[in-house]
Parts: sequence; structure tokens; C-alpha cells
Amino acid sequence: VRRNAGEVEFHQAVREVMECLGSVIAKHPDYLDQALIERICEPERQIIFRVPWVDDKGQVTINRGFRVQFNSALGPYKGGIRFHPSVNLSIIKFLGFEQTLKNALTGLPIGGGKGGSDFDPKGRSDGEVMRFCQSFMTELHRHIGEYTDVPAGDIGVGGREIGYMFGQYKRLTNRYEAGVLTGKGLHYGGSRARTEATGYGNTYFVQAMLGTRNQSFDGKKVVVSGSGNVAVYTVEKVQSFGGKVIAVSDSSGYVVDEAGIDLELMKEVKEVRRGRIADYVRLKGEGRSAHFVAVGEDSIWNVPCDVAMPSATQNELTGKDARALLSNGVVAVGEGANMPCTPEAMRIFQEAGVMFAPGKAANAGGVATSALEMQQNASRDSWTFEQTETRLASIMRNIHDICADTAEEYGAPGNYVLGANIGGFIRVADTMRSLGVI
Ligand code: NDP
Repeated sequence: VRRNAGEVEFHQAVREVMECLGSVIAKHPDYLDQALIERICEPERQIIFRVPWVDDKGQVTINRGFRVQFNSALGPYKGGIRFHPSVNLSIIKFLGFEQTLKNALTGLPIGGGKGGSDFDPKGRSDGEVMRFCQSFMTELHRHIGEYTDVPAGDIGVGGREIGYMFGQYKRLTNRYEAGVLTGKGLHYGGSRARTEATGYGNTYFVQAMLGTRNQSFDGKKVVVSGSGNVAVYTVEKVQSFGGKVIAVSDSSGYVVDEAGIDLELMKEVKEVRRGRIADYVRLKGEGRSAHFVAVGEDSIWNVPCDVAMPSATQNELTGKDARALLSNGVVAVGEGANMPCTPEAMRIFQEAGVMFAPGKAANAGGVATSALEMQQNASRDSWTFEQTETRLASIMRNIHDICADTAEEYGAPGNYVLGANIGGFIRVADTMRSLGVI
């Protein structure tokens, strides 16, 4: 704790995993040997750097860049880059730690890492975003590579930013190394279905979980928080499974549309105009089944639903929100974001017998499809959308089954949190043991 003083989010993520390991240690006490658990909790390398850039007014601005290379036992470090003003070392470390176990659950050869900056892309011009990305990559490029560390997108980093970073990497290294970044555009080595993968994957996971109690999305009311990459494609897949998404949000508030969210309109607002979710109501026409509630006036989690899919950011769903969802009859929760439910919220859901899919497992579809992008880059191949989505669906089904089977094996049937944490831990721990004390 002293070594990571003040790193609240990192402590939260590690504590959750440690609390699940009791039954593994009881069965296999040798996991305590050679400081294996301590090594899993300590990042292999943490890089912090200055990112100077010039804004449109000619003002020099400084941000801080991070890359935490957490664990490379299973393969090159792999994990997204986040641009958001809240980014600090604690957040990047929690994300890197989660990523290590998540990547292990996919069964694919990828280690764990995460990076980002406290740069706020909101309100910045294209030129400013490009100059920032170029400066960020000017330092980052010496630490990454196809066989070393392969970053991707996350909050505030989508196709546009990956393009600018890839362009700068190529220029600095004089190498067309497609496999150095994932989430690329389709015309320069990107994979079909990568944009959709995290939202689709979470929906596949929750569908499988509902299936264990003979239920499905069909006819269910669903609330999805956020309106970024993960949220948009969660809405798309839930709708295709017959669910009705009635609310989405961003950091300024949420929209309720009792007729069901109009996906094309949501895409137009968020992907084409890069606007705010309040614009959805304005464009749809005030009073026509949709209304906007500003942040602070009420919580999106007070909107009655059967399934909640938090897909914005960490700790966005509190104990109070969990109680509200319960009293409105929620039956399942699928975490699209990383650690969106507070520990109290998670406990409330689990004690009430609500089916709960932890982000570490449920949102692994994004990174899994990134690994498929790396495969396509390595073989200079490009798969169809259907081929890629079929692989994604089978990976998600497999992660679901690992979590369910592991939970059962360790005496907690239906506890996907325990199943995900133990399943991920065992794969990383066993591999690290084979590699010696490193
Ligand atoms: P985007 O930047 O595309 O969207 C983020 C959404 O969440 C926006 O609607 C944003 O609103 C909202 N949001 C972000 N921060 C806050 C905040 N502090 N309070 C309220 N709302 C907030 O990011 P993604 O959709 O890619 O990521 C969402 C989550 O999913 C993150 O936790 C990420 O780590 C996780 N994830 C993403 C993966 C991916 O493939 N993209 C893979 C696995 C996990 P606003 O625009 O107002 O800021």
C-alpha cells in the first residue's frame, strides 16, 4: 500500500481480485511461493512523459503522457490509450492490471498494458488533436512495437486519433509496421468488426448469462450509459437481439426515449457531428417520446429497466444506484466499461442474486478483436465482417463458460466476478511460473 500511496483506483482493482483468491490458495498454496502474487500486482515498467504541443492560438500547452507495461508473460503488452482530463497514474495502473487478467481470459497471446494522457480532446480542433497525437507518439514510439507493446483506443481515442498516431509512428521509424497499433482504419490494416467489438461482445456475454436462466434480451428494457464507442454498438446489438434500449447518456446528462433509442440518430449525433447527447432530443423534436435530463438533476440508473449496461467510465454506478435498479426489478448487469460499478454496488447486486457480468470478462471482445487484427496484420490478410464476428462470438461464449465453470469449481456457482478473477489469475500465474523469477 505504501509503494502505491494514494492510488485509490489501483487499490480498488487489486483488492477485488485478491478477495477472490482465497479458495484458489486454499487448494493450491504453492501460488504463494516466489512472491508470485506480489509480482503480478507490480507493473513491469511504468513510463511517464511530457507532451508539449501548440494550440490553434499559438500557445504552448503541456500534458502528461503515461504508458504502464503491466505484464508480458502471455505476449506483447496490449491495451488502450485514454485521453481524458481525469487520467493519472492510478487510473492507468488499475486499467493495466485489469487488462492483464482480461487478456488472459481471451485465451489469446497478449500481455497487459494501458496508457493515456490528461489531454482533453473536447472542443479541440482536428489540427490540435493531430498535433497532440504527434507529440504523444514522438515519445511513445521508442517504447512500443509489434513484438513489444501494441496500444489501441479507449475513452477519447478512436479511429481519428489512432490514424494520427500511426502516421507519426511510421514517419519516426520509417517502417510500415501495421501491427504496432490496433483500431486502425480499414484502408491501412484495420480489422472489420473492431469498432463494434466491445459493445457486441458485452451483449453476447450477457445473452449467454441470461440463457443460464432461460432468459434472453427479447422484449427486455435496457439502459446503456455513455454514448461513445462501446455504448453505440451495445445499443446496436441489443436491438438486434430484440431488446429495447430506452436510455443513453454522456457526461452532461441522459436521454430517455420510451419509443426505443433511434440508433441512426444516435450515430449521427455522436459519430458524425461529434455532438452532445442532448442534441438527440433536439434533432428528434422536443416532446416526441424523448426527453433530456441534465447531470445532477437525476441519475440514469433511476430509469426502470430489466438489464443495465454501464458503458461510460469507472465508478459511475454507486451503491445508491444499485439499490434503485434493484427496486425497479433489474435482472442482469453487464459491465461494458472498466470497473463502472463501485464495490458496494457490486456487492448489492450479488447479494440480491442479480446476474452480474464483470467488465474484465464482458468487455473483453474489444481486445480480443484487436488480437485478431494483429493476426490479420501478421499474415497480410483481411477477413470479412462475418468471419471476424463469428470469431468474436465464439471467444465471448468461451469467456462466459470459463467464468461460469471456474466459479462452480471454486464453490461459488453463478459468481462471474470470482470466475473471471480466478480464471485470469491462473493463466497468468501458471505462465509466469514457467518463465522463472522475472
Ligand atoms: P468513448 O470516449 O468513445 O466514450 C466514452 C463515453 O463515456 C462518452 O459518452 C463519455 O461522455 C462518457 N464518459 C466518459 N467519462 C465520463 C465521466 N467521467 N462521467 C460521465 N460520462 C463519462 O470511450 P469508449 O466507449 O471506448 O469507452 C467506454 C468505457 O469502455 C471505458 O471504461 C473504457 O475503458 C471501456 N472499454 C472500451 C473498449 C473499447 O474497445 N473502446 C474496450 C474495453 C473497455 P462525454 O463525451 O461527455 O465525455
